[in-house]
Amino acid sequence: MNEIAENLAVVRNSIPRIDDVTLVAVSKYHPADKIREAYDAGQRLFGESRVNELEAKAAVLPADIGWHFIGHLQTNKVSRLLRIEGLALIQSIDSLHLLEEVEKEASRLGRTVQVLMEVHVAQEETKYGFNPDELISWFESRGFEQLSSVRIAGIMGMASNTDNEKRVRDDFKSIAACFKEIKTRVPQLQGFDTLSMGMSGDYLIAVQEGSNMVRVGSAIFG
Ligand SMILES: *Cc1c(COP(=O)(O)O)cnc(C)c1O
Repeated sequence: MNEIAENLAVVRNSIPRIDDVTLVAVSKYHPADKIREAYDAGQRLFGESRVNELEAKAAVLPADIGWHFIGHLQTNKVSRLLRIEGLALIQSIDSLHLLEEVEKEASRLGRTVQVLMEVHVAQEETKYGFNPDELISWFESRGFEQLSSVRIAGIMGMASNTDNEKRVRDDFKSIAACFKEIKTRVPQLQGFDTLSMGMSGDYLIAVQEGSNMVRVGSAIFG
């Protein structure tokens, strides 16, 4: 077994209830031949954070890969991103302006796009995303009913970048609470089922706090 296949097996085996948790292998900055090794080991979902890089990789890798976009998306790149056949999910909708742009482009291209809304709870100032209360209010005001080409499948969030496990756990609790609150207050929301949280350093804590999608990069690709 090569190292990537081994790492993948270690990560998969470490996740309790792996059948209920979707593992997205974050391949940003890693070349296509490394992604190929993970693919050959059975991995089919990959996360990328730049449109240029994703375009180049999607062009040379198998068509049955599902690509997740996980980085900050500039509105002027939306059109190119939506033209990538294997695009499966945009995890990082971090503003209503971006959401509207994705809706507009998706409807222009006649395709439906699955997205997650990105929630910001971490202590770092620089991260993008919605404040949980703002996001809950937006759902309550039925903002999503204006969308015809975008399906909101859930939310994505990151914990603070710290060794303080309590802080990380509390961040995941806040993200999970936001997810539950939206589901409770807007029960008619269809297909709102994905809670994406957890990266290489904290995915086990995230899964304990209810995550059903983890985005793991360095623990797989080094
Ligand atoms: C890079 C990145 C990851 C993966 O991080 P690792 O620590 O390498 O596992 C997950 N989510 C997002 C949004 C990222 O940008």
